[in-house]
Amino acid sequence: MSQSVPNIKLLIGGEFVESQTTEWRDIVNPATQEVLARVPLATADEVNAAVAAAKEAFKTWKKTPIGTRARIFLKYQQLIRENMKELAAILTAEQGKTLADAEGDIFRGLEVVEHAANIGTLQMGEYAENVAGGVDTYTVQQPLGVCAGITPFNFPAMIPLWMFPMAIATGNTFVLKPSEQDPMVTMRLVELALEAGIPKGVLNVVHGAASVVDAICDHPDIKAVSFVGSTKVGTHVYQRATLSGKRAQCMMGAKNHAIVLPDANKEQALNQLTGAAFGAAGQRCMALSVAVLVGEAQQWIPELVAKAKGLKVGPGKDNPDLGPVISCAALDRVKSLIARGVEEGAKLELDGRGVKVAGFESGNFVGPTIFSGVKPEMAIYHQEIFGPVLCLMAADTLDEAIAIINANPNGNGTAVFTQSGAAARKFQEEIDVGQVGINVPIPVPVPLFSFTGSRASKLGDLGPYGKQVVAFYTQTKTVTSRWFDDEASSGKVHTTISLR
Ligand code: NAD
Repeated sequence: MSQSVPNIKLLIGGEFVESQTTEWRDIVNPATQEVLARVPLATADEVNAAVAAAKEAFKTWKKTPIGTRARIFLKYQQLIRENMKELAAILTAEQGKTLADAEGDIFRGLEVVEHAANIGTLQMGEYAENVAGGVDTYTVQQPLGVCAGITPFNFPAMIPLWMFPMAIATGNTFVLKPSEQDPMVTMRLVELALEAGIPKGVLNVVHGAASVVDAICDHPDIKAVSFVGSTKVGTHVYQRATLSGKRAQCMMGAKNHAIVLPDANKEQALNQLTGAAFGAAGQRCMALSVAVLVGEAQQWIPELVAKAKGLKVGPGKDNPDLGPVISCAALDRVKSLIARGVEEGAKLELDGRGVKVAGFESGNFVGPTIFSGVKPEMAIYHQEIFGPVLCLMAADTLDEAIAIINANPNGNGTAVFTQSGAAARKFQEEIDVGQVGINVPIPVPVPLFSFTGSRASKLGDLGPYGKQVVAFYTQTKTVTSRWFDDEASSGKVHTTISLR
């Protein structure tokens, strides 16, 4: 383990502190294998200290006026904009994606911060006058207390920003557990959040892996857990957190299909499919990793392959089309799944395994890879590869293509490419997937809406950001009140339940 690199700090009670742990992991640039920093796997005492700081801060933060909270996020969005280039450079160095895509990652999080600055109107209760004689009922949406977030490696800016701004803007305090693979940009965003005015203890950060996540799930003072990551870990987090009485929302893994109908605008459809399959080296939960080509669209494979072949692979800092995958282990896994696809009889139309990037020979690079003739029982189909690998399947009709998608266990994102309104409408109505794109390849909703997901891609009723997350991070209280004026008679005792 390298000694000369910086240690990533914990944030507890407003102070960036060095962990006392004996367990550290290297953060590695996936294009070069350079060790950039070391991240601690926090101790149980450190997790407890972060939760205690958040619990203490909640006492005053929950009473902080809505406008004061909102103005912090107004300032925060400005600071993120001003530091965009620096944030993108950190993100690219530790995660691998291109600088342009790193800015996209930050921007999609920034949109949530902008929304958090304006959340007051979504946190208003309801009021009904005279629900009984002289009796009124109203509701208030109160914050829950200490909430926690656990985030994946693939969007180290956007996904933390899905979580803590909305939780804090609605009056909660927060403990964030970023991905241990690339926490550096997250920490820079956290520093900017403090600079924007988030008070001590309102936002805390602990680093770590499984044991820290389990400690968060079990901690009696944490009221809600928001998780984004793989289906296996998310299912575990959901079960463990809800078992201890917490609210939980888990946005999880995917296998996103596009349907390409023969009436689609061919050039647009192939360009969009290529970008969505191979952009970010396929490491997006909304990447299109399967395309179902319907009827004559099956003739378009050579043009699709030509477009994919034309993409440039290289270090993210040079802004190619796609950078490396996150780790050597991820690279080995992607390559072994490609080998398995060949063994299982899929036709390898384009093989990205041999790609060489001059000057970056040790980087985790794999180029765009395309299989045709893919069948549901193949590993390349039923596993989430999370690399630049596109599986092509064939169907005779739209109905058949919809049936393929609905039979897959995942329901994160999907898209149809067509010029037919009737076909698009049928698709929208019948497909059992959370995010649906119509000639839009990666339909991640903006924060006026909430991200969702169906079947194995999501557990919990409410989504992150948007209106739904206000419900997730607040508790409805109903107040039923009656005021007596001086002339009111003392009346008589009623022993029935009805309001009079
Ligand atoms: P991951 O599940 O390995 O890790 C996510 C988080 O869980 C990390 O913070 C990690 O430290 C923690 N973790 C890992 N193993 C654990 C264990 N055994 N017990 C407890 N916690 C554990 O996911 P990843 O590889 O970082 O991210 C990629 C996955 O995330 C993909 O499956 C992708 O589809 C999914 N994802 C989903 C969405 C969505 O919105 N649905 C968005 C982005 C990523």
